[in-house]
Amino acid sequence: MRQMIVGNWKMNGLSAPSRELVSALAQGLKAIANPPPVVVCPPFTQLAALAPLLKGTGIALGAQDCHQAPSGAHTGDISAAMLAELGVEYVILGHSERRREHGELDETVREKAVAAMEAGLTPIVCIGESADQRAAGEYQDVVGWQIKGSLPDNFSGVVAYEPVWAIGSGVPASPQDIADMMGFIRAELTRQFGETGKTMRILYGGSVSGREAPTILPIAEVGGALVGGASLKADAFLPIVRAA
Ligand code: PGA
Repeated sequence: MRQMIVGNWKMNGLSAPSRELVSALAQGLKAIANPPPVVVCPPFTQLAALAPLLKGTGIALGAQDCHQAPSGAHTGDISAAMLAELGVEYVILGHSERRREHGELDETVREKAVAAMEAGLTPIVCIGESADQRAAGEYQDVVGWQIKGSLPDNFSGVVAYEPVWAIGSGVPASPQDIADMMGFIRAELTRQFGETGKTMRILYGGSVSGREAPTILPIAEVGGALVGGASLKADAFLPIVRAA
């Protein structure tokens, strides 16, 4: 399976710089022979404007969250169908920043994944332990519970392992730590989903840069990268795409 590079813009992106970034990415991708699948996940407010610009570029559009309900009294929320209508194909769910800042629990993430799949979106479900949980030696338990709790039985999507302590730190997890956790996650997915668990895509996220990508992407079971900070500039993101 070809590796996939996903850019998570987080809460960054006014109109003009978002358009400029997308056209620089499209331009840069053209210069890459046989490029891997690429997804950009801008904030909600840019999705409608960027969707037409991405047509035919080979870059797919993703969102950063959706609500678990199809519609109704949920002030400030966005449904999966609203995203699908705009041409969105992927949605990041259960990112650690949402778990922390919005109190999202595994159960909510699982419901959101179901809603996303029903609307025809591919969920990218994030899991990963905190620094304290790693220090306490609980990291495999935590990630194991997140897998059990956040992924519905009929899950069809992408899993992103993002150790919380590596996100935005400038230093990714070590290749050994990544390899250990990838092996653990693959075993858990296989136990939970059988055959489909063997091929489910697992991304690594947490301070991936063009410098680190050539070391991280070849690690066994790594199916691509979820990139935050380095996805905000074409000259930082494209080297990661080239490494895939
Ligand atoms: P980072 O963010 O690449 O800036 O560490 C990754 C993420 O949070 O998805």
